[in-house]
Amino acid sequence: MEVQLMITKADLSAVHEYEKTPGRVLSIYLDVDQSKQVNLNRGFEAALETRLRDIERRLEEESERREFSAASSFARDFVGKYQPGARSLVVFAKANGSLWAREMNPGITPEIRWEQKAHLQPVLEALDEFEPYVVVVADKSGARIFTVTLRQIEEHAQLCASGEVTHTKTTGLDHLYSQSHFQRKADEHVHSYVRRLVHDLERVVRSKPVHRLMLAGSNEIMGEIHRSLPKPLRHKFVGSVVLPADAPDVEVLEATTSIGQRVEREAENSKVEILITSAAKQVRATTGLKPTIDALNQGRAHEFVYAEGFSARGARCDACDAIFPARFLNCEYCDKALQALDDVIQSAIEKALATGARIEQIRGAAAQRLLGAGGVGAFLRF
Ligand SMILES: [Zn+2]
Repeated sequence: MEVQLMITKADLSAVHEYEKTPGRVLSIYLDVDQSKQVNLNRGFEAALETRLRDIERRLEEESERREFSAASSFARDFVGKYQPGARSLVVFAKANGSLWAREMNPGITPEIRWEQKAHLQPVLEALDEFEPYVVVVADKSGARIFTVTLRQIEEHAQLCASGEVTHTKTTGLDHLYSQSHFQRKADEHVHSYVRRLVHDLERVVRSKPVHRLMLAGSNEIMGEIHRSLPKPLRHKFVGSVVLPADAPDVEVLEATTSIGQRVEREAENSKVEILITSAAKQVRATTGLKPTIDALNQGRAHEFVYAEGFSARGARCDACDAIFPARFLNCEYCDKALQALDDVIQSAIEKALATGARIEQIRGAAAQRLLGAGGVGAFLRF
């Protein structure tokens, strides 16, 4: 069975649409990595079966059992026909037969949930951690252009530096003229090659929206490319790495992934600093659970930020769909009694998705800093 490869941010709105049809959602995250012994001979199907039985045993109401049994049989059929082509598989299934599945290359923690809504958090976190980027790998003789989305590398263009770059090996003074003449020829040649390369790069970036550009290959050509980048591309440039121009795709992927992760950490550090400073001055930002949730309830958040590992219990008003920290018993908007929520962060993420706010998970040192400021925050529209 063909699974649409790789989740993109655009898919998330599709999941949000999917959730508008009634019914609970069976959310399945499977480790299907075929380089692991345990997953060979379709071991992931056995893992799925065990988890499904665990959930089924815990269901008390007959109607919910029926709903679960229908959703899980659709999921089982799908996984039964699935041929692994990535490290992880994500499936959302409902009793009405609607099913949404994607492969993901970042490894994920396997888990299966049966809830009112799709469990999107692991997908969001992977999208956030592995921001798509474009890579140019080049030396004097040729270049390749790749994009990388969620650790999936794809080649878009190959360029040959047509006409050999030759350096004459002269020794005598009488050859000085011809040496500089050939050198000038070679320089012109490099310029035209780099111009063609940048032109191809612009074409790739137009067809595949990415916010980050990395350069790899030989130092001298990388320098030449960087000098030739038009401003919009230069703004996207985040780092470079020396690599043989004919390095296998997997080496290009590994070398650039670590740049991406460093850039992500730096971006998170500065985002958290700006968030905390702005919140302290009350300039369109807030930190701490209650003010952040308030902003989400009221549709005022344009970006929701939370620290990796931060969790809190909460409460929800069924009438207003508003959420609150756990200490609240009644809705602040309609005064109705609230329902307990195990995980208010998951609900906050859903609110952010529903109101079109960006979502950013913060990791590493910046996460510690954010935990000190309440673990969550938001940049506000007003
Ligand atoms: Zn209410």
